[in-house]
Amino acid sequence: MAKTLVVANWKMNPGTMREAHKLFEATRKAADTSSGSFVVVAPPSIYLREISRSYRGKKIAFASQDAHHAEGGAHTGRISLQQAKDAGVSYAIVGHSETRASGKSDDDTRKEVAAALALRLTPILCVGELSRDASGDHLAVVREQLTTGLADVPVGKLSKVLIAYEPVWAIGGETTMSPREMHEMSIFIRKVVVDRYSPVGHSMKVLYGGSVSEKNTLPMLEDGDVDGLLVGHVSIDAARFAALLSSIANT
Ligand code: PEP
Repeated sequence: MAKTLVVANWKMNPGTMREAHKLFEATRKAADTSSGSFVVVAPPSIYLREISRSYRGKKIAFASQDAHHAEGGAHTGRISLQQAKDAGVSYAIVGHSETRASGKSDDDTRKEVAAALALRLTPILCVGELSRDASGDHLAVVREQLTTGLADVPVGKLSKVLIAYEPVWAIGGETTMSPREMHEMSIFIRKVVVDRYSPVGHSMKVLYGGSVSEKNTLPMLEDGDVDGLLVGHVSIDAARFAALLSSIANT
């Protein structure tokens, strides 16, 4: 059975390198004892190299949280995908809603997805609406984010891309959207991809993110039609994250 991919987005946490090692050690132990999952840790870039070098196992990989597509240049404060790869990542989160809120556009995500693939990294393209109402306008938002973000991906590389659906209104709390709604969204996402890529799109891997916790992981995996999860605040709480991974062992 395929392992469930769990992306631990530490965001701008924890506050010191020492605490980062401690959190990673707890994450490592939890990943080692979880038979059903494969964990991708996305630490702040300043911790990346030291943490990735400290790890010798096969149950964890590393991701950048936000890296620039260009190889270098006048981009004060940014890191490039190339630099992130050199520091140990094999995955790249692209277009997280918090980076979109600070100005990242769909076109930036297009360049970052293509650059990540060129570097043989696995892009995790985040999509998701800010809010939704009965009009269904959010579907157009998600369609546009997908269509532009994937625009430079040739059909032969599609299987190397992951989509993380993260409704922004569900991020940072304790309640996910319902697994049933996620199931519908997974179907919609694959349909958009199939419209562009023909049947290959049916096998698009879709993750869910937005208040995933040890309590709602199992229902989301059982009924949400997802291949994995993107976890924010619970991933920096060692005990809760361990409980979340052990709930996956039971799927
Ligand atoms: C996120 O920001 O990607 C996220 C999923 O956060 P949280 O789990 O805290 O909702």
